[in-house]
Order: sequence, then C-alpha cells, then structure tokens
Amino acid sequence: MGKATGFLEYERMNNIDVPVKERVKNFKEFHLPLSDKERMEQGARCMDCGVPFCQSAMRLKGMVTGCPLHNLIPEWNDALYHGHAEHALSRLIKTSNFPEFTGRVCPALCEKACINGEHGDAVTVHDNELYIIEKAFEQGYIKPRIPMVRSGKRVAVVGSGPAGLAAADELNHRGHSVTVYERDDRIGGLLMYGIPNMKLDKSVIKRRRKLMEDEGVSFITGVNVGRDIPADELMRDYDAVILACGAKQARSLKGADLDKISGIYYAVDFLKSTTKSLIDREDGIGDRSVSDFMSGKDFISAKGKNVVVVGGGDTGNDCIGTVIRHGCKSVTALEMMPEPPKDRTEGNPWPEWPKVLKTDYGHEEAIELFGHDPRIYETTVKDYITDKKGNLKKIVTSKVAFEGRNMKLVEGSEQEIPCDLLLIAAGFTGCESYTAEAFGVELTERNVIKTTQDSYHTSKERIFTAGDMHRGQSLVVWAIAEGRACAAEADEYLMGFTNIRVS
Ligand SMILES: Cc1cc2nc3c(=O)[nH]c(=O)nc-3n(C[C@H](O)[C@H](O)[C@H](O)COP(=O)(O)OP(=O)(O)OC[C@H]3O[C@@H](n4cnc5c(N)ncnc54)[C@H](O)[C@@H]3O)c2cc1C
Ligand code: SF4
Repeated sequence: MGKATGFLEYERMNNIDVPVKERVKNFKEFHLPLSDKERMEQGARCMDCGVPFCQSAMRLKGMVTGCPLHNLIPEWNDALYHGHAEHALSRLIKTSNFPEFTGRVCPALCEKACINGEHGDAVTVHDNELYIIEKAFEQGYIKPRIPMVRSGKRVAVVGSGPAGLAAADELNHRGHSVTVYERDDRIGGLLMYGIPNMKLDKSVIKRRRKLMEDEGVSFITGVNVGRDIPADELMRDYDAVILACGAKQARSLKGADLDKISGIYYAVDFLKSTTKSLIDREDGIGDRSVSDFMSGKDFISAKGKNVVVVGGGDTGNDCIGTVIRHGCKSVTALEMMPEPPKDRTEGNPWPEWPKVLKTDYGHEEAIELFGHDPRIYETTVKDYITDKKGNLKKIVTSKVAFEGRNMKLVEGSEQEIPCDLLLIAAGFTGCESYTAEAFGVELTERNVIKTTQDSYHTSKERIFTAGDMHRGQSLVVWAIAEGRACAAEADEYLMGFTNIRVS
C-alpha cells in the first residue's frame, strides 16, 4: 500500500476541465493533467484493500463491475505514489495493450467498484492510468519491443479497431507475422471515426500505429475484405484469420427514410464526417481553402441548425458535444427510457454497476450554454415534417409507455419540435454481415459471429473473432480484453500451446 492513511488525508481530485465556454471553441481534448505531486497523492488514496473488486470484472445481477482487463490497479497505484514510474508502467502494460486509449475513453468500471467509493469518493484509477502511460511516452520508457524470434506463421486481422489492434499486438509480440486489413483510410475503428477528437485526440492513434509498425505489424488500409479482395485469398495466404470488424449495423427509426428526407443521418456517419474533415485538414489532404473549420463544406454541418439527437448513451452525448462545437442553434436529445435516479437505490448497492443518471461532457455543455438539460425522457419521434424540397423542418414527438417489454405511444401526448438535423443514435443491431458471409462463418440470432462459450474460434477452421463483432456493441476495454483472449486461442491453435497472458 502506498500510504496507509492516504485515503483519509487526500481528497479525490479529478483532472481539471477547461471551462465550457472555452472548450467548445475547438475540438481539442479538455481534461488538463494534475501536477506530478497531486497525481502521486491520488495514487496514495488507494488502500490496497485486499478485496480489489476494482480488478475483478465480476458479474453482479447481470452487469459487470470492475476492470475487464483485470488491470493490476493497487500495484500501479502504489508504484505511482512512490514515484516509481517505470515500475508502474511495467505493471500496467502487463494486462493492458493500450492504456492511452482506456485512460481517455473508458467509463472506468474499476472506479464504480472501488471500496473508497462505498461511502466516499473512489480512487481516480482512470486518470492515474492515463498519467502513467503518458509519462512513459514523454520520458521515453516506451520503446519498440521487437520479437527476437519469428514463428514463421502468418496471421491476417480484419478490422483495426481496439479488438483487432489488441489481437495484432499480442500475436506480433509472440513472434507471428501479422497484417491488419482496414477498409477505412485510417486505422483505429471507432476510436478513429466514432469517438470524437475532444475525447481522444487522433495523434494518440497515430503514435500507437507507428510503434506497432516499428515492432513489425503491417497495416493495409483502404481495403474492404470480402469486397475488394476475396476471403479465399486471405485463407490461402495466412495460417489464421481474425475477424474484428465491429458491430456497426445501426438501428433505424420508424418512418425515418434517409433516402427521401434530407437532414437525417446515422450518428456514426455524422461523427465520422467531422473527424475526417478535421484530420484531413491536419494532414494537408483535400481542399483546405477555408481556413475556419466551422465554415467548411466537406462535412455534415450543424451550424445554425435545430438539432435533435435520438438516443442517449455515449454516442448521443458525443453528437451533442459535436453539434455544439459546430455552432448549432439548439439541441434536444430524446430518450425512450425513464430518467434514472441521481444516486444508487437500495436495490443497487456498491460494488454493483451503478444504474444512475450520467451527465456527460456534452450534456454539461448543453446545460451551461442553453440553460437546460437537453434530455427529454420517455419520448420518441412519431412523425417527420419536411418542406416541399424534402428538407426536414420539424418532428412530431410522442410520449411512450411500457407494458412489460412492449412499448406503446401515448395518445394525445404529441408535440412539434423544430428540427433541421436529426441524428439517429438509437443503438446497433449487430455486425454488417457481408464479411462473415464472405468467410462462411455462422452468425447468432443477435447478428454477431457465433462461437462456443468463452471461445473465439468461429464455426470455420482457422478463423477467429473478437470485439464487437463477437459480443455486440460494447466498450473499448472489452474489445481489448477480447482481442487478447482471441490472440491466446489463435496462438494455441497455431503452436499447440500459448504463453500469451489472458487478462
Ligand atoms: C460514437 C461512439 C462513441 C463511443 N464511445 C465510447 C467510449 O467513450 N468509451 C468506450 O469504451 N466505448 C465507446 N464506444 C464503443 C467502442 O468504440 C466500441 O465498443 C469499440 O470500438 C469496438 O471495437 P472493435 O475493434 O470490436 O470494433 P470497431 O472499433 O468498430 O472497429 C472495427 C473496424 O473494422 C473495420 N472493418 C469492418 N469490416 C471490414 C472489412 N470487411 N474489411 C476491412 N475492415 C473492416 C471497420 O472499418 C472498423 O475500422 C463508442 C461507440 C460509438 C459508436
Ligand atoms: S481499463 Fe477502464 S476499467 Fe480498467 S482500470 Fe482502466 S479505466 Fe478502469
């Protein structure tokens, strides 16, 4: 334990946020780090309690609590407090391939299970993790770890999101020759073209790509496997194939005809257009004649528009933060479920995952700028009103009520809301099936790739799967955990045994 009385002496201190009115002027990350001394004190708050639910990933009442990677949290908190930066790093990367991603975007399942959080404030595990990895990059502790011996086995990974990257990283360090195929122009999956810049600056992904390339991983971008190249080619050229293509099949809305009504987009397409335009600009690609990004025409703009986001969750929140940075006129978020309680209820005690209201950065920004919470609960879209040219102008909302699991519209509760831009963030219905079909692997009724329980081997020999394409739309930390476990199973298949450590 770092300091026996640390949790009594030091208050929890979060990274400092840039004030709302300042940060919405650009798309930069806005959590500023604490000083070294303050961060070490935050490490001292971990009491190495002996019941580290924080690293357990236990399933309680159907929901996981604690870190899915089983990160060695008390160990690196201790090293952090004692100023042993290199040791902290060695314990952190033992279980985690990309702490610079999770330290930015993970919802910190660990902190919800921290014993300090039972009656007070949890340890700042998430921010401590980010500090350790960023200090390590800054101080040059992160160096390419090139395998001394190559196995002679070749593995293709299809999809470069966190699951594909984690699998590639593990298999490369094991000595296999790994090639990652990505249909987009840049690697990263939803890290690159889903999660906005202000949560994860894209230079962080570029830095990791460079490191992985230096270590021997090959990346081929702009190739859609199953369409641009046949699955058979990969099966012929590689000893094993890992499918990590995500679960990007978006759930639509009733009556939302994207072809006929102008002004309705899926959230991820909208978010991607902003990010791509921003980083194309940074990389000097395309027409950069307009110096002010907000005036640009090469992305779906919310400038001056009344925006409605349908669906809560991370995706909806990211849309709110993005349209505010575009300079929208108003933003409203429709949520079908009732408003959750502000605090844990008696039936939802620590260390269960807290089913409480989460007010994320986008909500905070909307509250400060527009004077009210943008979320309207138990409400959905009933109808769409367009002008003669088919441009969306208003929507008709309706309250909803649940009878068991069945939802019905409440008659007489309709309201019209001005809306020129409607963003659908209503969740996902599994993977885009064409890649699975090209390889001839079976899908489940949830539209994800079928494997036996706790396995990553598909119904076809030599083909494995990981991440959202396997478990359905989830979290970055789960994608990394699946990528690691999948790599271990593929390695065992190739070599007859494995020494890849599964979290
Ligand atoms: C808007 C948004 C915000 C989110 N925010 C968070 C957050 O804050 N924190 C968090 O933990 N999680 C968040 N998530 C969820 C998280 O991003 C995903 O769970 C995670 O990225 C899944 O990783 P993956 O590697 O399985 O798939 P993905 O990240 O979806 O990557 C799959 C990749 O495969 C590629 N691909 C697909 N088919 C082919 C093919 N045939 N050939 C070649 N390439 C192909 C795709 O282009 C993509 O790059 C968010 C999700 C969204 C949509
Ligand atoms: S990966 Fe997420 S859950 Fe695990 S220690 Fe880091 S912040 Fe916590």
